Amino acid sequence: MKLIFLGPPGVGKGTQANNICKQFNILHLSTGDILRAEIDKGSEIGLKAKSFMDKGDLVPDNVLLDIVSNSLQKNDAQNGYLLDGFPRTIPQADGLNRIMKNINQSIDAVISLIADENELVKRLINRSKESGRSDDNPEIIRQRQKTYWKQTAPLLDYYKKIGILKSINGIGEISEITKKIIKALM
Ligand code: AMP
Repeated sequence: MKLIFLGPPGVGKGTQANNICKQFNILHLSTGDILRAEIDKGSEIGLKAKSFMDKGDLVPDNVLLDIVSNSLQKNDAQNGYLLDGFPRTIPQADGLNRIMKNINQSIDAVISLIADENELVKRLINRSKESGRSDDNPEIIRQRQKTYWKQTAPLLDYYKKIGILKSINGIGEISEITKKIIKALM
């Protein structure tokens, strides 16, 4: 199974992605986690990415396409995977199509988690008290929401047109939402 998770910051993509990966025994590929690990390592990619992430902006497409292309060719991705936080722009989605074609694969479904924007900002401000993430502060949180609606939301139409988009309400009990996603994938 090969999946994409879409949804605005704070909707619970990471949590649901974890549950779904356990359920189907597939690899969880979070580009945000990969970039944060690069920052912790102090790598060149990390240094470059940090300046964008700290402002709530997207890291350039070519950086992400290199990361994803490498990750999908590794052994641990051969059982299937869930892309969490990628693609986030139309050029990334086009690039993903090319990568997938090269390795003779295709995406089975795109899960879109939906929620009211004000509710999400409230959630993220609460998360910021514990997360220690440098991009979890009110000003950057609003910028990340803006970035999502402007650059990532057009992907909803992109995948709807191909007929693989499944929209799920992201507000409610975590386990109930997981059940709904599993049902949508059956
Ligand atoms: P996330 O953990 O998914 O919320 O990602 C945190 C930050 O990492 C985002 O605000 C972006 O700056 C960067 N990032 C993660 N994934 C991508 C992507 N696919 N394209 C561009 N930037 C990304």
